Amino acid sequence: MNARTDLPPALAAEPPALDAIRALDGEMVDIRHQIHQNPELGFEEVATSDLVAERLARWGYEVHRGLGRTGVVGTLKVGNGTKRLGIRADMDALPVQETNGRPWASKVLGKMHACGHDGHTTMLLGAARHLAATRNFDGTLHLIFQPAEEGLGGARVMIEDGFFDKFPCDAVFALHNMPGLEAGKLGFITGPAMASSDSAVITVTGNGGHGAMPQMSVDPVVAASAIVMSLQTIVSRNVPPLDTAIVTVGAFHAGTTFNVIPEKAELKLTIRALRPQVRDQLQQRITEVAQAQAAVYGASAEVAYDRRYPVLVNDAEATDFARRVALDWVGEAGVMPNLAPLTGSEDFAFFLEKCKGSYLLLGNGTGQGIGEGGCMVHNPNYDFNDRVLGTGASYWVRLAEAFLV
Ligand SMILES: [Zn+2]
Ligand SMILES: [Zn+2]
Repeated sequence: MNARTDLPPALAAEPPALDAIRALDGEMVDIRHQIHQNPELGFEEVATSDLVAERLARWGYEVHRGLGRTGVVGTLKVGNGTKRLGIRADMDALPVQETNGRPWASKVLGKMHACGHDGHTTMLLGAARHLAATRNFDGTLHLIFQPAEEGLGGARVMIEDGFFDKFPCDAVFALHNMPGLEAGKLGFITGPAMASSDSAVITVTGNGGHGAMPQMSVDPVVAASAIVMSLQTIVSRNVPPLDTAIVTVGAFHAGTTFNVIPEKAELKLTIRALRPQVRDQLQQRITEVAQAQAAVYGASAEVAYDRRYPVLVNDAEATDFARRVALDWVGEAGVMPNLAPLTGSEDFAFFLEKCKGSYLLLGNGTGQGIGEGGCMVHNPNYDFNDRVLGTGASYWVRLAEAFLV
């Protein structure tokens, strides 16, 4: 057990961990707090990637740096096995000002690990240390420390930099902590698990003029208003009723004063879907509806569509495998039943477009007190729950040992 005084007193039911990993708890808590105190935003993870690379090299990993600028890959080959496994953690923090007074709170103004990527990195390092010390597997292990998950698509950049050419994998796995789920419980979702996240800017161009002589102009405000209303029918009339789709017009900008009909109006949209086909359908219909509605009013619409994060689709076989690893270790009681897909997005989706694998959830806790883990991610009071470091690290050890045989 851990004797540190900055951990809250033990709860009746500690989240599960392997004994050998439990022995690394103190070291993992130190690493987690060090990363937490020194948060770095996407593609700026210099000190974090230095720390990761230094530890991996110390433990005997072949270390590759520079994929996705600050990305680190640690490779360990044991035996003659031909199987190749990738496990990924993200390293970036968020531009959020931390508001809690914990001793390990962020030392950097306006930046904090508000999504728990400090914990994800630490758990993978804990597993790395144990796997290198015991070498109880046969094959090639690639540990992927990815930059810039938050909005900047670090996963895509690593892949564009040749990740899968340099480090071919038979399967890839990653996890995210989840406040609101019991600490240390593991959750698996087969198939589409997290939504795509796209954005669009619709620029409606009319013909400006005097507000008292509308017949002399083409009013882009009226055309854009019709577009906003028509867009609402895409989810209700085009997307199959059993599919999830979200079309939100978050911004509508036009005009300057009472009596001037402006030249242009601009709409900004966020668009989410849980199936790649629905994602494509939304893009097609949003473009068609905007252009056709503008034409009705004699205006024109230009749609700048930005496909950002794809739908995260968990491979059925890989997810079954990942779930079995959990059940073999912690039994039914340690696994969340029937988790529903999430409408949030995650750039591990890019890895899963190229390679089969699965993205799982780790309960961060439900209570709102210090060390209880229930505060939602991206909140200024959030903190990764140190109690589940051992659970995540142990799970990665079990997964690697089960996959690389
Ligand atoms: Zn986040
Ligand atoms: Zn996150």
